[in-house]
Amino acid sequence: MQLEKRDYDAIVVGSGPNGLAAAILMQQKGLSVLLIEGKETIGGGLRSAELTLPGYLHDICSAVHPLAVASPFFETLPLGDYGLEYIFPPIAAAHPFDNGTAAIIKKSIEETARLLGADEQAYINLMQPLVKDWPMIAPDALGPLHFPNHPLTMAKFGLKALTSATHLARRFKTPEAQGLFAGMAAHSIQPLTNLATSAEALVLMISAHLKGWPIPKGGSNQIANALASYFISLGGKIETNFYVKSLDQLPSSHAVLLDVTPKQLLQIAGHRFSLLYNWQLERYRYGPGVFKIDWALDAPIPFTAAGCHEAGTVHIGNTFAEIAQGEQQIWDGKIAEKPFVLLSQPSLFDTSRAPEGKHTAWAYCHVPGGSTTDMTVIIENQVERFAPGFKDTILAKHTMNTAQIEEYNPNYIGGDINGGVIDIGQLFTRPALRWSPYKTSAKGIYICSSSTPPGGGVHGMCGYHAAKKALRDVFDR
Ligand SMILES: Cc1cc2nc3c(=O)[nH]c(=O)nc-3n(C[C@H](O)[C@H](O)[C@H](O)COP(=O)(O)OP(=O)(O)OC[C@H]3O[C@@H](n4cnc5c(N)ncnc54)[C@H](O)[C@@H]3O)c2cc1C
Repeated sequence: MQLEKRDYDAIVVGSGPNGLAAAILMQQKGLSVLLIEGKETIGGGLRSAELTLPGYLHDICSAVHPLAVASPFFETLPLGDYGLEYIFPPIAAAHPFDNGTAAIIKKSIEETARLLGADEQAYINLMQPLVKDWPMIAPDALGPLHFPNHPLTMAKFGLKALTSATHLARRFKTPEAQGLFAGMAAHSIQPLTNLATSAEALVLMISAHLKGWPIPKGGSNQIANALASYFISLGGKIETNFYVKSLDQLPSSHAVLLDVTPKQLLQIAGHRFSLLYNWQLERYRYGPGVFKIDWALDAPIPFTAAGCHEAGTVHIGNTFAEIAQGEQQIWDGKIAEKPFVLLSQPSLFDTSRAPEGKHTAWAYCHVPGGSTTDMTVIIENQVERFAPGFKDTILAKHTMNTAQIEEYNPNYIGGDINGGVIDIGQLFTRPALRWSPYKTSAKGIYICSSSTPPGGGVHGMCGYHAAKKALRDVFDR
């Protein structure tokens, strides 16, 4: 196909993992691509900085990367050659309980199951077939709704994934297995009675058993740096400090892909869209937000349960009932007094994160969208509950409420880190019910952020699918 000369073949606005993935795929296909970022540095949810004290490196947003190593697209990229090194903690995640024990999830399904007592066989029965089948169905499961390549295998996964976590957890008898499952499902940031809350739990558990839950050596920004360096090596161009308010500000191109959410898409390009598409975008639903905290610590976190000391991630929330109650309260617009806290302790495994003998920790809990309540004490009390003496190790801290998170990154509307609710109503039809969710109603304009399938997390698959669509539609490739 012969296209008229423009400044660039394609422009990508926003350099989060999805923007970077979209830019890379199009540059790989021989197009000239400009990647524009509003902030001084690239990366979106993949930046790291000394937020507390000099020498203490913190991940500002994402910290733990099961989805990046499980990503069918990122897997194909030579990111190791561009400086990216993953560290795999021996235990992907630990889940402590009030009685001083912890459930843990390790690479081995059998070792994970063995510690679940009466649920040993139930755990093996659930996870073994899913882990075996995952490589076959991952490209379908991590993409838009379409007829799958392996329909029967996909249906087997779907039957479990589309149920509520409350329903699926009933196959377990012990508080350990049920609590572990609740912690995984709570990543979906919605009531655990909602349909499809098992999907997030299963994907995270499968990825723990297939690869692990790694942290990048030197911080999450190393993923963005490696992606950007590879993009540049292919001939791609990056411009930072360019906050796009309207499409009219952009150089000419045949395609524009926007790594933004529907609210911003309306502001930037709404004047080019049909009334119906604008109406659909306006109805898009954002979910609860997060309150984030980073600590510089004098010592490792003194968790009571031994398993927590070898875990990169710790899920703090005790039983299924407690986590489910907290998530429901947040969904109902209330602050949970004992919220589920996701905590990562990277310096235990990566000495570059803190001065010798010192440590960092990263944590967040869910709060109602837009909440400015300071959750510092509540989060620290939750950690202290399972790690007495924790508060005495704190040297400094840095916090962000939902408004500060949105100010830091305009994609996190009201503190929503998933780019919109990922419930059954928006799982496949994000941001709108269309044949291709990536294609807007205007020719050559695409949305490529986590507000498209498969949703939030650092995997780049939204960007990959959006770029594939643009390549086919506009460039016939
Ligand atoms: C506190 C926190 C913890 C998280 N933890 C994890 C985790 O451990 N693991 C995980 O997998 N995920 C995690 N996430 C989620 C993950 O970061 C996001 O799902 C992911 O970054 C989404 O990628 P994206 O490319 O869609 O958008 P983003 O990463 O949000 O990137 C969007 C980029 O576009 C830029 N931009 C937006 N509007 C404009 C504009 N108008 N003009 C120019 N540039 C613009 C922004 O500045 C930003 O750089 C976390 C998020 C947060 C906030």
